Amino acid sequence: MQSESPAATAAPITTAAKLPGLLGLSPTDIAAFVAESGEPAFRAKQILEWIYAKRATSIEAMSSLSKSLRVALAEKFTARCLTIAKVTGSEDTTRKFLLKLQDGRYVETVLIPANPALYGGDSDRRTLCVSSQVGCAYDCKFCASGLAGFTRNLTAAEIVEQIVQVEAYAGERVDNLVFMGMGEPLANYSNVTKAIEILNAEWGIGIGARHMTVSTSGLAPQIRKLADFPLQIRLAISLHGASDDVRSQIMPVNQKHPLAELFDALQYWRSKRKQHITLEYILIQGVNDMLEQARLLAKRARGIHAKVNLIPYNTVDGLPWTRPSEAQQDAFRDVLLAAGVTATLRREKGHDIAAACGQLRLKQETAEGIIESPVPEKRITIGAGAAAA
Ligand code: SAH
Repeated sequence: MQSESPAATAAPITTAAKLPGLLGLSPTDIAAFVAESGEPAFRAKQILEWIYAKRATSIEAMSSLSKSLRVALAEKFTARCLTIAKVTGSEDTTRKFLLKLQDGRYVETVLIPANPALYGGDSDRRTLCVSSQVGCAYDCKFCASGLAGFTRNLTAAEIVEQIVQVEAYAGERVDNLVFMGMGEPLANYSNVTKAIEILNAEWGIGIGARHMTVSTSGLAPQIRKLADFPLQIRLAISLHGASDDVRSQIMPVNQKHPLAELFDALQYWRSKRKQHITLEYILIQGVNDMLEQARLLAKRARGIHAKVNLIPYNTVDGLPWTRPSEAQQDAFRDVLLAAGVTATLRREKGHDIAAACGQLRLKQETAEGIIESPVPEKRITIGAGAAAA
């Protein structure tokens, strides 16, 4: 303490903008920082506890650390790198959190409450749908998240902090996580897997690996890589087309990794894991809702023992797509059931607050407030063309 400069003693411990978040640090990272700072090794455990067990919202508050150590920590890291800019929805329904990042960009995260009475099924868990990137580069023709393009990857800290901030705000623990917000998680592989390790760890957030689902548009090489990742997380595939012609029309990623390559990677996943893969299939009228697609889908699902989640398309402003009639949705599901495939027609939550699947959009701040980022004209025409085809 005596060695502190007067300035360090007098000034409050604040962090400069754009420092990496503490919530992205592993015990190894913290030990390295402590060693670098010339502090005794036991400090690492204290720092770890302040970050995760005590969820300290500022470095200043870490009162068991010496002031000089807190100053050193605050020179390199920030305790929080997100701020909650807006919450939409109410306590007992789906709530959407608009989170501002240190560089002024925004992401959204969606809290889906446990409410079996209202939603039925497996909704006895509080689920958080987290974002992995700002925007998305994959350009799926039906989805709002990629409309304004890709900006950047989220850091591990920005991913973990979505859970920590929402839990603090809502006053309750989240016990199920889906990487189904904005972005392609497997295109941000190292940060997403680091976040998963922190979220799962006993010393970290403590969410069971089996209660975390990574959803991907089908990056086959990264699926193989993830199959070798040691934690028993779940995998969901945004399939949306059961033949290459239909899928390529609405998901450009299919031109790079066609269905044969994707399903080879899924077989590899299965060889490593016991849990069933989920195939997500949005039903879009006149695009992929033909019963012939249902028959092909049944075959593909059976081949990898996957469950199928059918999701009636959620409308996106500016896109021409609609959902099929309920009769058509049921007929599509019945083809799967008749073929012995476990299939559900998923009841969507949060449609009214644009928090449902595919409705999370890139946002930006202007003099008039936070607005949706403009969508290049060409983007909408491609969608319309494909819809007509
Ligand atoms: N990029 C990853 C993670 C995003 S998950 C992935 O593609 O899986 C978001 C889910 O919402 C995906 O299954 C996506 O296909 C689906 N989705 C996108 N737009 C939708 C819409 N308008 N209606 C319903 N689901 C949509």
